Amino acid sequence: MPEEGRRLWLDSRYRHVVLGDIVAAVTYPGREDRLEEAITIVDRAIEVGLAHLGIPRGAINPPIRVEPRAVGRNAVKYEDCRLVLSSSYLRMLPRYYSSLEPAFRTWLHESIHARQPYDGSWRSEFEPWEGYEEGLADGMADVLCNWAGAIIPETTDYVTYVQGYRTLAAALQMSIWALLRRLWYFPTGQVRAGLLTVVDERYHELTGRSLTAETAVRFGRVADALFATGRTELDGSDREVEAQWREVLE
Ligand SMILES: [Zn+2]
Repeated sequence: MPEEGRRLWLDSRYRHVVLGDIVAAVTYPGREDRLEEAITIVDRAIEVGLAHLGIPRGAINPPIRVEPRAVGRNAVKYEDCRLVLSSSYLRMLPRYYSSLEPAFRTWLHESIHARQPYDGSWRSEFEPWEGYEEGLADGMADVLCNWAGAIIPETTDYVTYVQGYRTLAAALQMSIWALLRRLWYFPTGQVRAGLLTVVDERYHELTGRSLTAETAVRFGRVADALFATGRTELDGSDREVEAQWREVLE
């Protein structure tokens, strides 16, 4: 990890201090003076760190903004590449989670959405099947937080989607990181098509064969159900969902 980002990635106490400056600035009048500098420290570290890890963030439309947003809308990366964190979300972190690490995780999640400009027709994938993109961003953010020693005391809205990828990776005899790393190359709006490409490649590595047209159709059906927008209840245990993938890919 390069010098510039190392401390923020590897020292959770330091993260707490810098994120604390941001939270204080949006909570207490008179504490705004540290806001800009603290945002720059975190953002620069995330940018440098992701580049170092081989998953560089794409261009964003600076600066990172901190603005009030509706409850549950913790952050957003817009199509025009603005990245906005919710000040209401940041303010409630100490009270609800007794931790500021969720802000680090959210920042990573949005930065993974920002890997490339959105595909022109991204809505046609994202509206019916947001899980392809959200599971990718959240699954990668999980691995990165784990690596940075950031303990996240919350479950996100996207656990079902991450389970979808985790169990698929297991069925394909690879780590979730290895699977998502290959998917990361596809922009928002192309992840659904990208997943079929990645799975076909991996299937070929394992069996020496390509997916048949029928298998591809069956795979798409199962994946569309698992990554459908608004799905928040787990369908079963990891073992059960993995078995479903294995059956499709037999
Ligand atoms: Zn997201």
